Amino acid sequence: MAVQENKKHYAIIGGGVSGLSTACMLKEAGCEVTVFEKESTPGGLVRCARVEGILYHCVGGHVFNSRKQEVLDWFWQHLDKNDFQLATRNAVVSLEDGTKVDYPIENHLYQMQESLRSAIIDDLLQIAAKGYAQADNFDEFLRNRFGNTLYNEYFAPYNRKIWRRKLTDVPLTWLEGKLPMPTVKEILEANIGQVKEMKMVHSTFHYPKQGGSQHIADSLAAGLDVRYNSPVDLLEKVGNQWHVNGEAFDAVIFCGNVKHLPAMLKGINVDLSGVERLSAHGTTSVLCEVEANPYSWVYMPSAQHESHRVICTGNFAESNSPAGMSTATIEFTLQLDKEEILKQLQLIPFSPRYIAHHYCPYTYPVQTAETPAIIADAKAQLAPHGIYLLGRFAEWEYYNMDAAMAAAMKLTAQLCSC
Ligand SMILES: Cc1cc2nc3c(=O)[nH]c(=O)nc-3n(C[C@H](O)[C@H](O)[C@H](O)COP(=O)(O)OP(=O)(O)OC[C@H]3O[C@@H](n4cnc5c(N)ncnc54)[C@H](O)[C@@H]3O)c2cc1C
Repeated sequence: MAVQENKKHYAIIGGGVSGLSTACMLKEAGCEVTVFEKESTPGGLVRCARVEGILYHCVGGHVFNSRKQEVLDWFWQHLDKNDFQLATRNAVVSLEDGTKVDYPIENHLYQMQESLRSAIIDDLLQIAAKGYAQADNFDEFLRNRFGNTLYNEYFAPYNRKIWRRKLTDVPLTWLEGKLPMPTVKEILEANIGQVKEMKMVHSTFHYPKQGGSQHIADSLAAGLDVRYNSPVDLLEKVGNQWHVNGEAFDAVIFCGNVKHLPAMLKGINVDLSGVERLSAHGTTSVLCEVEANPYSWVYMPSAQHESHRVICTGNFAESNSPAGMSTATIEFTLQLDKEEILKQLQLIPFSPRYIAHHYCPYTYPVQTAETPAIIADAKAQLAPHGIYLLGRFAEWEYYNMDAAMAAAMKLTAQLCSC
């Protein structure tokens, strides 16, 4: 990457994966960077803590991989491969009748009860005979692609638990590049050949031997100028400079929540009213001791309880739990109090024992048909003033860590070519 001739000084708001990645990249390109992070540790959504000696992913459970070679190359330049282990996904869908079917479910119909399997294959053969009907939304896409039986058994109840709204309201633009779209032929071939799906980003994954995803954040933050416990409430343009917490900067990279930005800006005239219409879901992540099991993720479409996923974080690294103990994070796309969590846990497989919980209000950005235009308009208005949006809730994108790093690369290249 070309070294900046004028060595701009950037303020980066937010020390999550996006802010830390772009800070590293800009620093390596010769720029000065200062990261402002409101919490006392780096990481944002990937933050981990220790509770009763157990590694607790405060939000979900984070593993790393990428299909983008340039992201992998960059990642391994900044993290030591010896500190990680490579694992193969062992994920299952736990069906209402108790059957556990390997993930992705459509490739493992042969593991289901015969009557269910037969009904799904009837649907698939009809789809193959008629061809794929045009879909206008996520709901129609799922029915048209997998048939009504698999839709009713898994896709609809599981996705409703995550998205908490009608799947007809989820636009197809949201799907692009995010979901596999197997043809009937591919599904049948995978079942007959009992072929393992290895194309999805987390079919295999890298996981730190110590410290969980906090290790990734800590490693990226090391050597950077990060101001912890430094919430930024005001971004004020004075002449050509941005004033942030009493210091002056040439430009700002905003990696926080774009909905909070309009109230923070002073000294420029922009209309960001569109961001008020953006919506999101939160997640309650419940740390539990669970029965020993061999899984990495267990997806739960069951209507009997509200949780959609058990993330078997204790199985990700030996150091994550005390010897002899199995642990997991159980996810709910809802804010639940402890009393309700305890009731719910009684209905979930693996006899979970409650240890701790945390609610994060912004975890899943909800993409509607107008989301891309709202973000594009905000970026177009802000960039001429030297403010750039980057990250999951700055861009309202369903980024994984690697996509956040790829976006940081793109923005850094754009800034360094000016
Ligand atoms: C449940 C769940 C599971 C996931 N699992 C995976 C996974 O297994 N693998 C994977 O690759 N990705 C996973 N992801 C996605 C991953 O979490 C994100 O891609 C990544 O963490 C996004 O980082 P970010 O920096 O864009 O945002 P954030 O992590 O939200 O970081 C924003 C940071 O900005 C700080 N901040 C905000 N406002 C201010 C302010 N005004 N002043 C100062 N600081 C501020 C916040 O404290 C935070 O540290 C998962 C996400 C969720 C929700």
